[in-house]
Amino acid sequence: MQKVAVIGSGTMGNGIAHVFAQHGFTVSLIDINEDALKKAVATIDKNLARQIEKGTITAEVKNQTLANLSTTTFLKEGIKEADLVVEAATENVELKLKIFKDIDENTKPGTILASNTSSISITKIASVTKSPANVIGMHFMNPVPIMKLVEVIRGYNTSDATTQAVMQLSQRLGKIPVEVNDYPGFVANRILMPMINEAAYTLYEGVAGVEEIDTVMKLGMAHPMGPLQLADFIGLDVCLSILRVLHDGFGNPKYAPCPLLVNMVQAGTTGVKSGSGFYQYKAGSKDLVVSEKFKK
Ligand code: NAD
Repeated sequence: MQKVAVIGSGTMGNGIAHVFAQHGFTVSLIDINEDALKKAVATIDKNLARQIEKGTITAEVKNQTLANLSTTTFLKEGIKEADLVVEAATENVELKLKIFKDIDENTKPGTILASNTSSISITKIASVTKSPANVIGMHFMNPVPIMKLVEVIRGYNTSDATTQAVMQLSQRLGKIPVEVNDYPGFVANRILMPMINEAAYTLYEGVAGVEEIDTVMKLGMAHPMGPLQLADFIGLDVCLSILRVLHDGFGNPKYAPCPLLVNMVQAGTTGVKSGSGFYQYKAGSKDLVVSEKFKK
């Protein structure tokens, strides 16, 4: 396995392309948006420079990584030679089903088709292809070049051969793969999102303030970041959509999203990316300041 196509060059796609290219794979990075591709290459360049500063790679590795990478806005062109396709496009069911239909029709027989989805059923994605045995979840964590875990998700019809190939491939990237089955939220988000939702409920019910909740979880449970800060970092809209997948998928009221979270997303305060969530974010400032709404 040598040639990899990555579809979507946003937050996750650029990181996924980065690690594959750094580990010697030929990578075609594909996006519908030319500017997103330019931004992705600039981000990869900057992150590689940071790795040189830290002494984890040499300048030659940086040059070779960039040489292994090409970009295109033409899906068919980017995937036709691929041994593996990793889809990391926007989290939207209809979009992913369309992309998988297209890649199934335009890749060589035997190509492994992986999705980096946080919450959409791999079995559902596989159902629009002619080769569901070759379809699998490859759930990288953000930021991809740093985080060690890859959650490898077996759909209902994913073959042993596909699963083993992706487990081995993840190790070649210096990652630690963990195999899980395809049920709502897989493992990572099934456990993480109820914690974030409960933190939002704790705030909503006035049990404690933003800083108090995060401090209890940081100091008491040795979490590097409190759940409310983590929710801001992930994006409150993303958290809400994953909670809805859990709620619908299990039909269990324990996953009902906190009304405060719903309100915040409706108001457009979605965390770091919008400049405010539970905390407020100012360009150039690393201070963690609680949003006005939640100040006591
Ligand atoms: P993003 O919005 O940063 O990037 C998505 C990219 O997909 C954009 O550049 C967009 O132009 C592109 N795109 C949209 N339609 C496309 C198409 N038809 N063909 C090619 N490119 C297309 O999103 P992201 O945060 O990188 O998330 C990507 C995937 O990774 C989602 O499935 C998400 O659930 C998953 N994920 C995200 C995180 C995270 O922390 N952000 C973590 C794990 C998994």
